[in-house]
Amino acid sequence: MTENEQIFWNRILELSQSQLTQATYEFFVLDARLIKVDNQTATIYLDKMKELFWEKNLKPVILTAGFEVFNAEIAVVYVFDDEQVAAAESIENPSIPNQTIPSAPNLPPVNSDLNPKYRFDNFIQGKGNQWAFAAALAVANDPGGIYNPFFIWGGPGLGKTHILNAIGNTVLENNPTARVKYITTENFINQFITHIRLKDMDSLKEEFRNLDVLLIDDIQFLAKQSMSGTQEEFFNTFDALYKAGKQIVLTSDRTPDQLNDLEKRLVTRFGWGLIQDITPPDFETRVAILEDKIQEYPYVFPADTVSYLAGQFNSNVRELEGALKDISLVANFKQVGTITVDIAAEAIRARKQDGPKMTVIPIEEIQSQVGKFYGVTVKEIKATKRTQNIVLARQVAMFLTREMTDNSLPKIGKEFGGRDHSTVLHAYNKIKNMIAQDDSLRIEIDTIRNNIK
Ligand code: ADP
Ligand code: MG
Repeated sequence: MTENEQIFWNRILELSQSQLTQATYEFFVLDARLIKVDNQTATIYLDKMKELFWEKNLKPVILTAGFEVFNAEIAVVYVFDDEQVAAAESIENPSIPNQTIPSAPNLPPVNSDLNPKYRFDNFIQGKGNQWAFAAALAVANDPGGIYNPFFIWGGPGLGKTHILNAIGNTVLENNPTARVKYITTENFINQFITHIRLKDMDSLKEEFRNLDVLLIDDIQFLAKQSMSGTQEEFFNTFDALYKAGKQIVLTSDRTPDQLNDLEKRLVTRFGWGLIQDITPPDFETRVAILEDKIQEYPYVFPADTVSYLAGQFNSNVRELEGALKDISLVANFKQVGTITVDIAAEAIRARKQDGPKMTVIPIEEIQSQVGKFYGVTVKEIKATKRTQNIVLARQVAMFLTREMTDNSLPKIGKEFGGRDHSTVLHAYNKIKNMIAQDDSLRIEIDTIRNNIK
């Protein structure tokens, strides 16, 4: 094995081990062998019965390792017996032609609106984002090919916009004439409305339907646009691009299924390619992100300060970045060169107090405020009794927890007496619909919300 092959294989083992339980890892992975990597193809020797498992579970691992070590999209072939191994060792794999994007001639250039700051090489990988990262790299290197559409979803500040831009920047690096466009959904809607008003839909159509790569951010905002024809226009754009084999990447704060007011046919299409979530970074990843970002600052950050900060913000990378900015202001003001834990704590105090409530409100506090309002105990909210006012309090509390905190649906369910996530989602949707029709309920809930703040 060459040195790179060895590194590549070690990385595959390492990533698989971190993804799988120990027993699964030992059974499915440990006795596999890398035969070779050539022409962007890895040949891996396996028990035939384990092939499906590798196909289903380890492709992203191989992709990630491939990009890390060979800076390329590595395909994989499996071989199962010595004869095949010998054959593989003696012949070279046929080379896989690199896909290039033929751009339509005679079109005005597109303004990509990409943010050049957001790249793959300054995105820190960790447990919560590594699959999204691997898939995004693959998409960027094979637009319209491997995962189309590619749908990334996750909470605020977890790097969706960053990854979306990184895809576009990479496509353009590989092929400077590719027609790439980044656009927020809000902006798409605004453009749509403007062009309608100017009776100039044709130019909008021409711009969007001739793209090679459409990167559309925060698609959840399209859900509110059911009346305006924007969904219709987006649908047509989507279909035109998809049929032409052009890449579409979307981000959202929730899964396609949870995009309640979106037309069914759009939701269905979002699932045609790959849907991948990003979850909040674990402690180690937060430390790694901080260690990367502090390099931009002219201060010394001792390890205990970094750990302290990583412990303070646990669900939003934007908050971590904001904390560093606050710290730099205070350090500059105080003329210090080393950021002690005390200085860090002082600098972020305000942020912890009036930052988004997302990270700070305990579920217990919401339950207790809702309980107080409806004359129900927290215990009753968590229990199973179905008296009318208890049910209402329980559902309102779940609704507010979903709205005011960053907790996942399963976590919320767990905190409400071990209910499952679909119960929480049901409660959330139910209250949301009720509020839309019932002003007095809306006012009640706003009152409770203010008590919690
Ligand atoms: P989202 O679109 O999911 O709300 P963003 O992509 O805007 O989040 O990310 C918020 C900020 O955090 C950006 O400045 C982004 O560069 C940074 N960020 C998020 N995740 C990472 C990461 N894993 N490594 C480095 N920076 C990150
Ligand atoms: Mg974003």
